[in-house]
Amino acid sequence: MSNFEKNMESIITNITKEDMEMNDDNKKGVQDSEPITKKEEIEMDKKEQREQREKQRAIKVALITATPLLDLPIKALSGLLKQESFKEDSKVVYSIDKFNLGENKHRGEFKQEIIEQLVEKLKDRDFIGISAVGFNFDEKIVPLIKELKNRLPNKPVILGGDVATDGANMERCWQLGIDAMCIGEAEKDLPFLLENWEKRHDPEVKKKIKNFILEDDDVEKIKNGEISARQLQNFLTKKEMDEYKTDFTWDDYYVLKDEKISEALPKYMPEAIQHQLPQNENVLIYAFTRGCPYACDYCDYATKQEQLDQTFRSKSMEAAVEELKRQKIELEKAREKQVELGLDKGPDPFLVLMNSDTSALSTEQLKEFRDLYKRDVDLPFYCMCSPSSLTPEKIRILADAGMVHLNVGVQTNQESNEKFFNRRQKDDKIIELTRTVSELGEKGIDIKLFCDFIIHNPFENKDQSRKTIELIKKMELPFDYIPHTLFLGSGSPLRKRYEKEREENDLDKLLEDNKEIGYSNYHDTYRFYSWLKDNKGFVINTICEFMAGQHNSEKLGRLPRYANNLKSWDAFGEDNLLSTAQKEAKKISDKKQAESYMREKEEQISEFRKFIDEKLSAIDEKTLSIDFLIKDDVLDYFEDHKNLFINIALVLKNLPQYHQRFSNESAEKRTYETEFDDSSSNPIF
Ligand code: SF4
Repeated sequence: MSNFEKNMESIITNITKEDMEMNDDNKKGVQDSEPITKKEEIEMDKKEQREQREKQRAIKVALITATPLLDLPIKALSGLLKQESFKEDSKVVYSIDKFNLGENKHRGEFKQEIIEQLVEKLKDRDFIGISAVGFNFDEKIVPLIKELKNRLPNKPVILGGDVATDGANMERCWQLGIDAMCIGEAEKDLPFLLENWEKRHDPEVKKKIKNFILEDDDVEKIKNGEISARQLQNFLTKKEMDEYKTDFTWDDYYVLKDEKISEALPKYMPEAIQHQLPQNENVLIYAFTRGCPYACDYCDYATKQEQLDQTFRSKSMEAAVEELKRQKIELEKAREKQVELGLDKGPDPFLVLMNSDTSALSTEQLKEFRDLYKRDVDLPFYCMCSPSSLTPEKIRILADAGMVHLNVGVQTNQESNEKFFNRRQKDDKIIELTRTVSELGEKGIDIKLFCDFIIHNPFENKDQSRKTIELIKKMELPFDYIPHTLFLGSGSPLRKRYEKEREENDLDKLLEDNKEIGYSNYHDTYRFYSWLKDNKGFVINTICEFMAGQHNSEKLGRLPRYANNLKSWDAFGEDNLLSTAQKEAKKISDKKQAESYMREKEEQISEFRKFIDEKLSAIDEKTLSIDFLIKDDVLDYFEDHKNLFINIALVLKNLPQYHQRFSNESAEKRTYETEFDDSSSNPIF
């Protein structure tokens, strides 16, 4: 059986005509009134499908993502195109190959061996669609597009994803030589565009294609303000969201595994490094809402809402659960296949619900979701909620549905949230929500609570950082504190404000503005210490990073809970400080200079030990370690001895028991070794 035939078989097997017609009441009515047996019905369906296929023209599409866990956009488009093949008047049949080239282990562009394999797989495709997000766009996607345009010059490349929908990036993306760019939601117009590709510049055809930029003129007109991006967009309605079905099949799906493009299996999927996600290959990743009801000033959604008037929409609960049910079935099939191949099935599945704010759904919707989900899917799940919409009652409903991981975006204290981020949420509400989770825990309903915070915000001064620490101290235990380094992108409202106020207010540098070190995953700030160390907020924000991880009766993340225990804290240990300094000294090629460097470090470390022992001998046993570290005299010492402070921070990163490489990395175990490390050729302290 050729690949194409296999594709066809898989289309028929996995998204059937029945699926398509599920919501079509008229057709259902006809079927209900005809006494046709199931077998006859299937035979008729197959015959009809065969006849239809004979009249159809084939279009072969490759859909590529390089975002490790977020393959949902390519699955959504694949499902849509497969559905299109079954429309009664459809003149085409789509054959789709999906590629997930996401991985966390390697920095830099894809190696040539990987490009060779990809080119081989793409050469029979008619179109190449790439879904890209900002965090690895420059490093992975830009070189990939250049390679593909060079190696396969006649294959149209269509770019989508948040880099393309972020208006500020539009021109830069277009200049890569791509052939079309989706600046809204692709589903509605993609089939028409592909089917009319040769005529796409014809004004009559072009005016029917919303959501896509097709020529230089479109970019120019948007740039000059002649038309707004919004005029080109046409978002999905809730009804359409219900009708479109995601392709969760594992056939014709390829992943990057040990530098080989292999057939996808759950075991081969890119690992999650974020500790709020389970270290489990059998995760179902899904979102059934689009957009977000808020407009935080640092966020990409805010950019879009301002420019695109995008609103929060949800599938019906029935359609959402129906999709989840299919996804679970497809995962089960793939796990069975693993067993046939001599692999194990892996751990029990877990759902990662990626809605931007699940609690933005009404209480009634959540109850409906709970009832259907428990009946048809019944897997433990993770979800994200905003404190603005989350209530104790919603927490209880979600817990009843199976939520075991709850991620809440706190970001900062009430005042800073309003002043800098356009977020209106009360600190008291945060405390109340943590109390609800804690009370449920006392009743045996365990929810792991992850609270996101934003650090290294150049607009915040020390006192504002201290206010956030005060809030953290009032939150009910236990919870995980997850600091994220502020990222503004190129077009967010806060980026504009930053550019305006930067010089006048002498604002600190942003991590993302470095040109040499490369991209960040927002949790690897240690790689950027040489860029950030002169920032006014460097020390206090880095101390906040020390708190990454679980807060409970013994710990504040990587810090011991009480300052007394800092006396024996590994990161203050003389031997550990010396061995980290030795690692840096090895970067110095001149032996004499290296020896002198080490002598200087030994003196600094010895002086620091005296300072810290003296300070710690004067504290009472109830003093929290964080309060001790942000006292004026201790902070001042670190400010004046910045290199010593960086030495401490790097000890924390290097010691395996602390896992500080990523501030949101698993606190319990390192899942794998990465190549991520400081690559500077000179000592950074
Ligand atoms: S709530 Fe989250 S997704 Fe929505 S605008 Fe704010 S940061 Fe963005």
